[in-house]
Amino acid sequence: MIGVSFRRPVLSSFCPAPIMTTYISQNAFWGLLISAVEVYKRECFGLLIGYRDRKGAQDMYIVEHALPFQTAGRRHKGVVSNPRAHRRIDRFLSSIPQLSVIGDFHSHTMWGYSKAASHPSETDLEGMKAENVYVILSVNDRLREVPWQYNDDGSLSGTTDDHYFRLTAYTVTRAGEPRRTPILCPYALGFNARPLRAIK
Ligand SMILES: [Zn+2]
Repeated sequence: MIGVSFRRPVLSSFCPAPIMTTYISQNAFWGLLISAVEVYKRECFGLLIGYRDRKGAQDMYIVEHALPFQTAGRRHKGVVSNPRAHRRIDRFLSSIPQLSVIGDFHSHTMWGYSKAASHPSETDLEGMKAENVYVILSVNDRLREVPWQYNDDGSLSGTTDDHYFRLTAYTVTRAGEPRRTPILCPYALGFNARPLRAIK
């Protein structure tokens, strides 16, 4: 298990924040995992495409696609995106009304024996905007099989054949404080479920 050393921001009890959830589609789930595995032990970076759905107290980010940036300069600690390529993609997406960028994602990977962090770095925080959602994928070598599950901190974790993943979604307050938002990914949980044997 990954030790998470992250200070939760103090929430004011007088101003309940709306319940924010990040829904990850099957498509986006595989997009995130494959992008991270492709460049593993370097970091991947990409855009989250979808929309924001608000119904009363329910506020949801619906992530339909995770689109990796092939031009991202990958280093072990951090990724730098290519600004010209970024602008080209922004322009392309702005011409397609069904697709809008609702945030981005990147991975953190293990280094020697130190496990990948699930919290945003100072540099990550600098790039975060209040209206967007950000997914950090922490990727480690798999030590044993762990079923996909939701964790108490709202993250989603589990293993594939070679890797242990933890997906954590963040928003940032106007004051720049990160907040985790619970991830909802029914597909990932169903992914462990074995079909029941048909009874004749
Ligand atoms: Zn980071």
